[in-house]
Amino acid sequence: MDAGSYTGLIERYRSVLPLPEDCRVISLHEGNTPLVRCLNLDTVNRKEIKLYLKLEGMNPTGSFKDRGMTVAITRAVSEGCHAVICASTGNTSASAAAYAARAGIKAFVLIPEGNIAMGKLAQAMMHGAIILQIRGNFDDGMSLVRKVADETPVKIVNSINPYRLQGQKTASYEIVEALGSAPDFHCLPVGNAGNISAHWVGYSELAAENNQNVTQACGFCNGDCTFISLPKVTSKPKMLGYQASGAAPFITGKVVEKPQTVATAIRIGNPQSWDFAQAAINESNGWFRSFSDEQILNTQKLLAASEGIFCEPASAASVTGALHDIESGNVPDGSTVVCTLTGHGLKDPDIAIKQCHARLETIDADLDSVRRSILDDL
Ligand SMILES: *Cc1c(COP(=O)(O)O)cnc(C)c1O
Repeated sequence: MDAGSYTGLIERYRSVLPLPEDCRVISLHEGNTPLVRCLNLDTVNRKEIKLYLKLEGMNPTGSFKDRGMTVAITRAVSEGCHAVICASTGNTSASAAAYAARAGIKAFVLIPEGNIAMGKLAQAMMHGAIILQIRGNFDDGMSLVRKVADETPVKIVNSINPYRLQGQKTASYEIVEALGSAPDFHCLPVGNAGNISAHWVGYSELAAENNQNVTQACGFCNGDCTFISLPKVTSKPKMLGYQASGAAPFITGKVVEKPQTVATAIRIGNPQSWDFAQAAINESNGWFRSFSDEQILNTQKLLAASEGIFCEPASAASVTGALHDIESGNVPDGSTVVCTLTGHGLKDPDIAIKQCHARLETIDADLDSVRRSILDDL
């Protein structure tokens, strides 16, 4: 470990992660992402909401998937695996490819042909994954991966791998440490439903009675510093899960055969963590809701233009839902709300450029033209 610096969530949260003590840690220093307060959204200010955005796009491959992948790949390597496989809408493949490269093992990724954001495909290619584009969607890929992993020596690193959720729960730990308590509401986009389940595991562990005095090494040293303690938490947030209308099995109550949405990361009709996620909603007294692609893209633009934060379309579903539920009073005035922004906006530049009607002028390369344009717009 490099002395004095953050070296990833496994070192930081080792005492609450199921890993062998002597294992080789496969890390790209993921986690420790910013929790940024919104300053400029009208609805939020009018209702005196403290709205925080957890910028998971700041992870090494640009999405929260890295939290789960560091633990899943570390575990796989410790078990002697030489190859991993996943079905992916894009970000899981990018993350699996990067961590497999770091570990020196093979990654096979199944992606839906034609429905993957360009940045994500570029990542899987650059990190040397073996990419199988299927003529089908994520759900088809997932079911194929389950079958093939039964008969070949490859380890599944989708979120049905329990170590993925263990890694992802650390986001809740970071939020509680940053705020000093749990928020009142936590909003997430829901696709395969692993992340909302993982967050609920994290919050529940922190609020468990036998966790009242957890101490652990700070993670910034070799264990020779003072130990820090995790905050004592007595409350848990209500979990709010938001889907795209064209891919909303939690709203329709049944598997969606042909999910459709511009938010490709949540274009999933048969969520693998259905029961976990439903339990998180029920136990926390939260709810699911769905929004149109247009609403989601409008929020993506709003965040980029008014807060300086560029997330991918799927991520914007969390804020779309939060703003709706704040405006309609389902989230009471004065509440503390956290929205997870699951992935970075640069993952999907095509959609951004297509939908954003930014003014793009072409002018002559002379001082007069530039001056005129500026004065016209001041
Ligand atoms: C994977 C992903 C999601 C969906 O998370 P689930 O755990 O599948 O519900 C949402 N947004 C982005 C950017 C993702 O990569």
